[in-house]
Amino acid sequence: MRRQTVDPRIRSKVIATWGNRCWLGMPGCSITATEDDHIIPFSHGGKDTVANLRRACKHCNAMRQDRVLSGYGATMHVVIGPPRADFGMAMQPMLRRDSIVVSFDSLLRDLCPTQSKASDGLRLAAAMAWDGAARTLAKSSEPLDVWLVRTLPRSRRHPDMLSEWIALDYDVHVIETPASETFALDLSHQEYRTAQQWYSLHLTQQAVDARMAARRQRLAALGLRHGDDTARPRW
Ligand SMILES: [Zn+2]
Repeated sequence: MRRQTVDPRIRSKVIATWGNRCWLGMPGCSITATEDDHIIPFSHGGKDTVANLRRACKHCNAMRQDRVLSGYGATMHVVIGPPRADFGMAMQPMLRRDSIVVSFDSLLRDLCPTQSKASDGLRLAAAMAWDGAARTLAKSSEPLDVWLVRTLPRSRRHPDMLSEWIALDYDVHVIETPASETFALDLSHQEYRTAQQWYSLHLTQQAVDARMAARRQRLAALGLRHGDDTARPRW
């Protein structure tokens, strides 16, 4: 890991301009910042300037790693929904021709096209492929249009992905299939379990929109978004 010291005079200006409250506010945030965080990561050539630095707590800085704030490099979207939700249909109108789609179901199908009931081992392999692709693309400095598709917004290592996504300004779409519809399908044991977990989260687009709007206001106050549209400062 690089260790790099920001000029104390720049740091003072960063604190005077943007405050010393952690800019990320990820799950487990300590609120009070103790570190300098580069908006455009240092590894992407991000500079030690007041424009590119915000204060972060140690926990969030470590949790973020070098993931970009959506739009400062890759633009990140997420589509979540219960098992068997029609993700393709939901995304179709929003996808660009060059959009990149990372879908757990597609990865699982690619690994084993003929197996209708995938084993736990195979599902783990698909989950790891999903994680690897998502993690790599989330750090991309290229202006890629990335769509992450999955059911539950959590994993063992990331118990609250939704909050991480919102912190990094991802566009999150929730497919709201009624529980009665999902449970009426011939679900596998695994799908049934996942569906139970999905509906216990009570996720709605409205609730997620409210959280994204609050986050975007904060990002605007931090000089990282203009107004409430999708415009972001160019970098
Ligand atoms: Zn924090």
